[in-house]
Amino acid sequence: MKKILAGLAMALLLLINLSATPIPGNGETVKHYHSLGAIQQTQNFFDAIIDWFNGFFYYDDSDYGYDDDADYFDNDYSDYGDEYDEYGVYDEDDNADYSDNDGYGDYDDYGNYDEEVLAVYLIEDGDLDLYWGEASDSEEALYEKMWTQAASLIPDDYETLIIKFEITTDGTDGSVAYICNEDDSLQTWTLSLDPVDSVNRNNKFKSDFDETVIHEFGHLLTLSYDQMDNSARNTYVAEDGRLKADSYLNMFFQMFWTDIIDEHNQNVDEESEDDVYGFYLDHPNMFVNDYAATNPEEDIAESFTAFIMNNRPTGNQVSDQKVLFFYQFNELVEMREEIRGITD
Ligand SMILES: [Zn+2]
Repeated sequence: MKKILAGLAMALLLLINLSATPIPGNGETVKHYHSLGAIQQTQNFFDAIIDWFNGFFYYDDSDYGYDDDADYFDNDYSDYGDEYDEYGVYDEDDNADYSDNDGYGDYDDYGNYDEEVLAVYLIEDGDLDLYWGEASDSEEALYEKMWTQAASLIPDDYETLIIKFEITTDGTDGSVAYICNEDDSLQTWTLSLDPVDSVNRNNKFKSDFDETVIHEFGHLLTLSYDQMDNSARNTYVAEDGRLKADSYLNMFFQMFWTDIIDEHNQNVDEESEDDVYGFYLDHPNMFVNDYAATNPEEDIAESFTAFIMNNRPTGNQVSDQKVLFFYQFNELVEMREEIRGITD
């Protein structure tokens, strides 16, 4: 009962707060998700088994018993979620309602994920400062560990564009991470990570954590303000804005997408995994993976991730050319070396 009352009081406070200060962003967010499609889920199934075994063998006494950590080790946030439901005034749905007010409602359906925001941190001089929600000491330690690793992978010039770090979950897989702009300036961004998809049972990073962060950084690299020019002509227009002629994404689009964009527009609903997967199969050797076939933004983010993570391609298929594309930029080749020094 005490908990319910506390929940109600918090709910009221949040309602008041929400009406005054929308969190996060100003309702003009465009979310760039990294979700797991059909193929990746199959691959991840094996990763999950390995992670599970690792968790099993590393399991020690401290993981057992009744403590705040227990929910993490379930590797499923069902209990955790229920607890937060009592305070569930602020979740993605409420955010969606708010966003509807200024006509950006369409974007909120992007992805169809039933996400729950667990905590929102502001980034103050590179450190986390709890802004919304609550976290036990062990949860906060985990969130800090996630942020520290993510921040170390993202070059400083771009890391400073991230002003909020959101902990959001929709359970295992589904949406694993996203990055979204805070406003039209494209100089302030929120990075969101799902703890369930970030660490395994013993709080060690899952095998694809670095990759996920690099994918989101790929969006930041290709969609931030220095890539945009509203007065440009005949350049690619992303939901975030019109790209400069010599921006990475516009060059990538002109090289790899002008032949297929009409077909893509006609046949692919980006929210439909089946559509995206069908397009991927219809264009063999064109995409580095199925998720890349979602749209040009995801294609460049996935190709960039392959550029950072993998060895230089030796083939000359379109999917290889998309990775080789990045080697023409010295600043990106340097960046690759730096990031590869951090990934394990
Ligand atoms: Zn993405």
